[in-house]
Amino acid sequence: LVRLRDRLARSGSPLGSRLLAVLSRDSLTENDWDDLEEELLLADIGMDPATELLGALRTRVRVLGVREPSAVRELLREELVALVDNDAAGRPMDRSLRLEPADQEGTRLPAVVLVVGVNGTGKTTTVGKLARVLVAEDKSVVLGAADTFRAAAADQLTTWGSRVGVETVRSDKEGADPASVAFDAVARGRDEKADVVLVDTAGRLQNKAGLMDELGKIVRVTSKVAAPSEVLLVLDATTGQNGLTQARVFAEVAGVTGIVLTKLDGTAKGGIVVQVQRELGVPVKLIGLGEGPDDLAPFEAGEFVDGILG
Ligand code: GDP
Repeated sequence: LVRLRDRLARSGSPLGSRLLAVLSRDSLTENDWDDLEEELLLADIGMDPATELLGALRTRVRVLGVREPSAVRELLREELVALVDNDAAGRPMDRSLRLEPADQEGTRLPAVVLVVGVNGTGKTTTVGKLARVLVAEDKSVVLGAADTFRAAAADQLTTWGSRVGVETVRSDKEGADPASVAFDAVARGRDEKADVVLVDTAGRLQNKAGLMDELGKIVRVTSKVAAPSEVLLVLDATTGQNGLTQARVFAEVAGVTGIVLTKLDGTAKGGIVVQVQRELGVPVKLIGLGEGPDDLAPFEAGEFVDGILG
């Protein structure tokens, strides 16, 4: 927890101290509420959620007659946690990863995880970190290097694989069919009775039709052995609104089940979590807090809010 807080707060003055500075003014005027809204918007929370949150907060402050800045901050924290933790209908989101092997007529099938997203967001790194976590939990893992467009991508994944001690299925041909590499990886996972197959995909955002073809084919082809139980969309937290626009395309074409928000160590704009979940209707399941093998954490709303409040 301390670590998460340190990592998130590393980039500039934390949202919490700036909010507290506003809250510690004598009594809260319209101007102060506007300033609070501005701070929340600067943290990438998004217009509608910010308006909603401040509406709820103002009501509670008034009804409870709270004046003390630290007490207002506590109410703000509660509202933020609810905003981050719940779906649009106000229910807590299920952030568990579905990684249980399936049993199909006596054949044990690995859980298949597709990792999708725009190039450079951190897909390969996330696959490597996740493999390490799973291996530490005594799970057997196979990696699939289905990003066949960048020559270096398969090498990068293989390096992660050997570092963690798991096999990487890849093609020697640059530009090989990504779906066929994905299929081979899943088949290998089945034959070796692996628990989980993690498939790294290419993130060329050429056009929606092309992407849809490519990811659609990977899903169809791997499903001949085992349908993906998770499609994780990797999103770079530092790209803000841009990243969100790109993410929408992937969510539309790939049937995303969870989000991995990376590079949270490099931004004070953690509020993007709220926008992403609202826009895509799927929970953030994991967060990336650095480039190293241990820098992947499950997402937990309370801990995260404490992290961004500093
Ligand atoms: P891909 O093209 O989506 O597979 O992205 P990569 O996994 O190659 O990552 C792109 C760059 O982002 C690399 O330099 C990674 O080390 C870096 N990176 C990935 N995740 C994180 C993170 O959580 N924090 C930071 N600071 N860097 C990250």
